[in-house]
Amino acid sequence: MSKPEKLLDKKGLRLDGRKLDELRPIKMEVGVLNNADGSAYLEQGKNKVLAAVYGPKEVHPKHLALADRAILRCRYHMAPFSVEERKSPAPSRREIELSKVIREALEPAVFLEYYPRTAIDIFIEILQADGGTRCAGITTAALALADAGVPMRDLVVACAAGKVDGKLALDLMDLEDKYGEADVPLAMMPGINAVTLLQMDGSLTLEEFQKAVKMAMEGCKQIYEMQKKALKAKYVAIKEEIQE
Ligand code: ADP
Repeated sequence: MSKPEKLLDKKGLRLDGRKLDELRPIKMEVGVLNNADGSAYLEQGKNKVLAAVYGPKEVHPKHLALADRAILRCRYHMAPFSVEERKSPAPSRREIELSKVIREALEPAVFLEYYPRTAIDIFIEILQADGGTRCAGITTAALALADAGVPMRDLVVACAAGKVDGKLALDLMDLEDKYGEADVPLAMMPGINAVTLLQMDGSLTLEEFQKAVKMAMEGCKQIYEMQKKALKAKYVAIKEEIQE
C-alpha cells in the first residue's frame, strides 16, 4: 500500500479509528488442530496466526539431544498468500531471524529441564500479515505450548508500541510500522513481571523509549487476560461436552 498522507487524523485517531493507546481487536482460540499436541489460532486486527506444538518428543537427529534438558525449536513462517505480493515459500533471512528471536522469547518460560533428551517443536504460520506478526506469533505459540500441556513458569505474551506522526502508539499495524518513526516489540511473562524480548526499530528519545516500553507492557497485560480466558474456554467446552 502507498504511503498515507497522515497516520493520525485531526482528532488524533489512527487510520483504523483506534486511539493511541488502543489495541487492535483480538480473537483467540485454543486447540484448533487435531494432529498437533497443542495448537492455537489468533487474530489481531488483520493478522491471522496459527501455531502448532509437538512434544516433548524424541529428538531427530539424535546428536542434537541434550543430556540435561529438552531443546526448543521454532519455525516462524509466512504463507505465500499472507502479504499483498506473493511471498516465496522458501524461508527468508527475516523468517530465520524471527524464528530465533521468537524461540528466545519463549525459552525462559518453559521448564526444559523436566524433559532431558527430548525436543519441543513450535510451528508458527502467518496466514495473513499486517504488522506485529512476531508479537502475535509469540502470543499464539505460548497458548499452543500451554495447550500441549508443556509446563511453563507463566504464559508469554507480546505486543509492540511505537511512534507515529510524533506520538507514541500501541500495537502498530503494517502502515504505521512502515511509515511511523519507531517500533518497539516487547514480550513478557506478566505473572512474574519478566521481559523476554525487547527490540527497537527507528529512533526515539530515552524518555519516549521508556514510555513506549511501559505502553507495550500495558498492552501485554491486556492480551494476557485474553490468553487466560481462551485457555479456560477450551476446558469449559470440554466439561460441557462431558456433561451432555
Ligand atoms: P513484524 O510483523 O513483527 O512487525 P516486520 O517489522 O519485519 O515484523 O514486518 C512488518 C510487516 O511487514 C509484517 O507484519 C508484514 O505485514 C509486512 N511484511 C513482512 N515481510 C513481508 C514481505 N515479504 N512482503 C510483504 N510484506 C511483508
